[in-house]
Amino acid sequence: MRVLPSVAFVVLAVTLSACSGPDPAPATPSGTTSGTTAAGSTAPPAPASDPAGPTRTTTDLPAPPQREPRPAGSGPAAAPPPASSAPPAPAASAHTDPVAIDVVVNKRRPLTPLDYAPADLRRPDVATPTGFDLLRPDAAEAVEEMFAAAAADGVGLAMVSGYRSFADQESTYAYWVGQYGGPAGADTVSARPGYSEHQTGLAFDLAQADGACTLVRCFRDTPAGQWAAANAADFGFILRYPLGFHEITGFSAESWHFRYVGRDVSLAMEAAGTQTLEEHFGLPAAPSY
Ligand SMILES: [Zn+2]
Repeated sequence: MRVLPSVAFVVLAVTLSACSGPDPAPATPSGTTSGTTAAGSTAPPAPASDPAGPTRTTTDLPAPPQREPRPAGSGPAAAPPPASSAPPAPAASAHTDPVAIDVVVNKRRPLTPLDYAPADLRRPDVATPTGFDLLRPDAAEAVEEMFAAAAADGVGLAMVSGYRSFADQESTYAYWVGQYGGPAGADTVSARPGYSEHQTGLAFDLAQADGACTLVRCFRDTPAGQWAAANAADFGFILRYPLGFHEITGFSAESWHFRYVGRDVSLAMEAAGTQTLEEHFGLPAAPSY
C-alpha cells in the first residue's frame, strides 16, 4: 500500500520530475519561479543558470541500442592482447548493462532493453511523499545511510522520485509533448522512455523535508541541497546533472537528481574533480538524441 502523497509533491514529481531530465523550463525569464497555470498544471520553473541554457534537441529518432561486447577470454579461443602496451580506450559500448551500477544512460545511450525493469526494487526506509519510492537494494541502503547522516546534521531530506518504469516515463514524456506541442520542446525537459536514469532504479530526486524548492533551481541553495552536494559522494552518489555540463550530459543543471554509482566511483570522481560520468568513464558526450 502506498500512503496517499501530498498533492503538491505529486504534481511536482509527475510533471516536473521529467528527468533524467533537466531543470525543466526553457523560456521563462530569469528570476521568475514556478507557478500554476490557469489549467491547474504546474508551470515550468525558471531555467538553470547555465550560461547556454538548456540543451535544445532535435526530433531525430533515437539511436539503436548498443550491444555489450563479449567479455575478453569468455570464448574458447580468446584473441591475443594487442601489441601496444598502452591501456585500451574504453569501448563506447561499455557501461550498457542496466543491472550494473556503472551503467551510463543518456540521450545516446538508451537502456537495453528499452523497457528494462529491475527485478529487485525495494522501498528505502526514508520519507517518500510522492509514492515513487522504489530503488535497487544497494541504492536504497545508501539512501537510508545518507538521510540518517543528514538528519544527524540537522538536515531533513525526502525522496520525491525514485524508480520510474518505462510506462511512467511514457506518460511523463507525453505530458510534456502536449505542453510544448511537440518533441523538440519536450526533449528539453523530459527524457524519452527508455532513456531515463530513473528507469534503472539507481537514481532519485532529492527534496528538503519541508518541500522548499522541490525540483526547482533554488533547491541548490537550500540546506538540503547544500548538504547533499557536499556529502552525497560519501554514500556512493553523484550529482548527475551538474551546472554547466549540459553539453556532455544532455541536460541542464539539476541540483536534486542523484545517481548511485557506488563509493569507489563517487569518491574517485570527487578526488579527481570529475563532474560527469561520461568524462569519468571516457564515454562520448551526449548533448542530444
Ligand atoms: Zn531525476
